[in-house]
Amino acid sequence: MARLALYREERPRTFAEVVGQEHVTRTLRNALAQNRFTHAYLFCGPRGTGKTSCARILAKAVNCLHPRQGEPCNQCRSCELIQSGQSMDVIEIDAASNRGIDEIRDLRDKVKFAPTDLRYKVYIIDEVHMLTEPAFNALLKTLEEPPAHVIFVLATTEVHKVPVTIRSRCQRYDFHRLSTRQIAERLAEVSARHGFQVTEEALYAIARQAEGGMRDALSLLDQVVAYAEEGRTITLEDALAVLGAASLDRFLALDEAIRNRDPGQALLVLDQLVREGKDLRQLVRDLMSHFRDLLLLQVPGGEALLDLPEETLAQLRQVAAGFDSQYLLWAVKFLAGVENDLRLTTNPRLVVEVGLIRLCSTPPAASGAPSASAGGEWVPPAPQAPGPGRERRGAPAQAAAAPGPGSPAGRAGTQESGHRPQGPEAGARSGAAAQAPGPVSPELAAMQQAWPRVVEFFRNQPKAKSMAPLVAQATPVRLEGRTLVLGFPPTPEGRTARDLVHRRTKWVEAALNRLGLPEYLVTTTILEPGETAEPAGGLDLVNLIRQRVGPGVPVEVKEDE
Ligand SMILES: [Zn+2]
Repeated sequence: MARLALYREERPRTFAEVVGQEHVTRTLRNALAQNRFTHAYLFCGPRGTGKTSCARILAKAVNCLHPRQGEPCNQCRSCELIQSGQSMDVIEIDAASNRGIDEIRDLRDKVKFAPTDLRYKVYIIDEVHMLTEPAFNALLKTLEEPPAHVIFVLATTEVHKVPVTIRSRCQRYDFHRLSTRQIAERLAEVSARHGFQVTEEALYAIARQAEGGMRDALSLLDQVVAYAEEGRTITLEDALAVLGAASLDRFLALDEAIRNRDPGQALLVLDQLVREGKDLRQLVRDLMSHFRDLLLLQVPGGEALLDLPEETLAQLRQVAAGFDSQYLLWAVKFLAGVENDLRLTTNPRLVVEVGLIRLCSTPPAASGAPSASAGGEWVPPAPQAPGPGRERRGAPAQAAAAPGPGSPAGRAGTQESGHRPQGPEAGARSGAAAQAPGPVSPELAAMQQAWPRVVEFFRNQPKAKSMAPLVAQATPVRLEGRTLVLGFPPTPEGRTARDLVHRRTKWVEAALNRLGLPEYLVTTTILEPGETAEPAGGLDLVNLIRQRVGPGVPVEVKEDE
């Protein structure tokens, strides 16, 4: 049965039907309801977000014989002419295929003539940034003195390529990418109307793949529907078979391998993924965003940032409880390094395999099961020797210098209670870490006493002077096996200092060594502000991830020798 492509069939016919661009459609509707409109509009935004649809609705609304509060009626003769593409007065030009000056010249000549069957002539120029310079100049001439019966709607995905002279003559509207949830909800509506049975998980997988564009989402849904046999419920597996993304199940299997520190199992899962045709770079990126999801589940309010169906959320919550937030932070950063390595290598599979082995060889949780005795017996993994040349360059070197992966530093600060099962002793413990009221071990007391010497040490290093005021904000708050945890105040300055020191924990370790102090691995944390948990904690963690994964993080950790 031949049927119209979904995205054509489902094209919105009124402003109200346009999904996720209320800031644009409300303004347009209000202006049109009051008969206020301009002669040149510029619609900017990513592909598939509704620019051309809105241009067509605008064309109908200004020409409609019975407009209703700025919306076209979609029933009058004008609306019907435009809707069916039969009107001579709505002219669509695709600049991507009509780059020439001839088309614009032609436009310039004809623009003078009054419309034949409508009130206004509407020129919709799609991908306007593709016009050649002479074409832009010709267009500019027209925009400078537009005839009263003409309206231009210019649409572009790359507004910076549109000359300022053109932009300044247009009223600009910015279209936004849609959230995964907005897309999924719309897909559910469309599916119901067409009688497709699609699971929520499958819809979310499609929505995620569409990356904010409704048109792409509808095309993908079309493909998935065509792939599955008729009459059968379309599952996540169907969607993934078409989309080529790794299924959550595979990630859950990887999580389990990592939690059990079982590299063999992880490599088996990788093998399956490779055989399913999964692209390795995409896999690493997906795994990163998977760990990010887990991380967000550990911070208050973080869940709201996840566009996931409830069923998936429930599964992920369970998994997240088995990971330490410091491990997840480290893993995200580490995978960024792996992704970077994939650019350079001729053997991507090997790089990913080595990466997985490393993920599995690092304890994912500080204390294993939440019920484990809180004896502080956890010992951080020894810093691993640099791998064979290939692995430890650039960003990955950063990953190697990351906080003791799995170190419990996050428990006192960034990670708030409430999302993980915590025994009463765990709560008591994080309080103790923050305020350190309990008996301080002689080792820790010694470090606290020696701390001014560390500050002094940096003050006297010409090349590391800037570290002194940062280190001065820290207090040794805890010893975890061989790891010394430095606490920073939960103020903006404290957080900044913490970030900077965190990138240079090797320097602090070197300082301890030079001063003849006990050799500890160093990690950092933000202290809790008294008893009140900071509601902004979640967002702060997100920022941290962004900073650490983002480019421009200084990589140099070498002490001046
Ligand atoms: Zn109408």
